[in-house]
Amino acid sequence: MQFELTEEERMIQKTARDFANKDLAPVAAESNKTGEFPEAIFKKLGELGFMGMTVPEEYGGVNLGTFCLVLALEELGRVCASTAVAVSVHNSLVNWVILKHGSEELRKRYLPDLATAEIIGAYAVTEPEAGSDVAALRLSSVRDGDEYRLDGTKIFISTGDKAGINIVFGRTDPKDRKGGISAFVVENAFPGFSIGKTEEKMGLTASTTVELVFEDCRVPAGNILGGEGDGMRIALGALDGGRIGIAALSVGIAQAALDEAVLFAREREQFGTRIIDFQSTQWKIAEMAMQIEAARLLVYRAAKLRDASTPCPKEAAMAKLLATRVANQAAFDALQIHGGVGYTKEFLVERLFRDARAGEIYEGTSEIQRLVISRRVIEEYERMFPTE
Ligand SMILES: Cc1cc2nc3c(=O)[nH]c(=O)nc-3n(C[C@H](O)[C@H](O)[C@H](O)COP(=O)(O)OP(=O)(O)OC[C@H]3O[C@@H](n4cnc5c(N)ncnc54)[C@H](O)[C@@H]3O)c2cc1C
Repeated sequence: MQFELTEEERMIQKTARDFANKDLAPVAAESNKTGEFPEAIFKKLGELGFMGMTVPEEYGGVNLGTFCLVLALEELGRVCASTAVAVSVHNSLVNWVILKHGSEELRKRYLPDLATAEIIGAYAVTEPEAGSDVAALRLSSVRDGDEYRLDGTKIFISTGDKAGINIVFGRTDPKDRKGGISAFVVENAFPGFSIGKTEEKMGLTASTTVELVFEDCRVPAGNILGGEGDGMRIALGALDGGRIGIAALSVGIAQAALDEAVLFAREREQFGTRIIDFQSTQWKIAEMAMQIEAARLLVYRAAKLRDASTPCPKEAAMAKLLATRVANQAAFDALQIHGGVGYTKEFLVERLFRDARAGEIYEGTSEIQRLVISRRVIEEYERMFPTE
């Protein structure tokens, strides 16, 4: 597998880096303070093609693939994890499922607007009783003539209130736990759809996380993705891409932590010397740099497999598990290197520390990633060494 970036990939990485440094950084500083969602930033991301990275040109995208998407997400995650999460969900989950499982009519209706950020897409799986256990979801979805009638609530939905559409997973067969789930494209303007509570989060403050309420919400039957009962398969297939995206932006958080730590440690003096000259600081820097490289390589490998249409649940889970852990550890160490000022809102490491934390929870907790990985590893051993 080749990880040397091509000319085109370097150019995309540079475009994302320049955008993140010049356009996003000043907005991010402010919106993470106020909690204001940086809507204008998404228009610019749309103009640059970053909202339609895996969408073919015929539907208005730039069709550059998952590898280029992760290059961009790392750069965005380095500067504003809140923005990067929204871009990741929009590309890896929403665009992806419409492209792979939507009818031609749905693709034509929604993808051009999504790819240019005319609308933002959100992805609604979680319910009060269904977090890690997706198959426990209950949102009622009953066929009624040419429509489905949706009733129930979704919680913790990133940018669900800012979105033009939500991909909503509901139950079409109450008796079939896994096979009774279906996925729908629900426009936020559909009657019976409303926004409930907004979560007050410890981090990712420039990204809204909201409850969605469905009360006799009418969805045209043609807005189903795949067919009735395909929801679980669609959700699991999309999650690989989603996890690669979260892993990529987590590498960005970790890289930002390392950057901040080194820059700070070169300036700060104690006991008559720069703190970067202490071996304890150097060891932290070495550890961070090594872990970041390892995580980045896992992300690159998973993204390349995704682009080759090779199923990669184990590789995506490994990338997410490691990258989110590395982001947390790097933010922890960077804050430690800053000492007391690292614990104040004046320094970026405080935000990195809070933002990194969510990575081990959303799109499958770290425990769930371990389940996914261990299942595959054990299966591989069983194939290699079958029991008599
Ligand atoms: C900032 C943020 C944004 C989010 N955005 C979205 C979104 O856009 N769309 C969406 O649908 N959801 C979203 N979520 C929800 C998120 O996906 C869930 O929080 C996550 O899947 C975990 O579910 P839960 O919170 O119900 O925890 P639970 O499933 O209740 O888990 C609680 C604890 O038990 C552990 N656990 C559960 N099952 C097992 C098991 N089988 N083995 C071992 N340990 C286990 C978990 O790892 C965890 O430590 C978001 C969450 C956050 C925090």
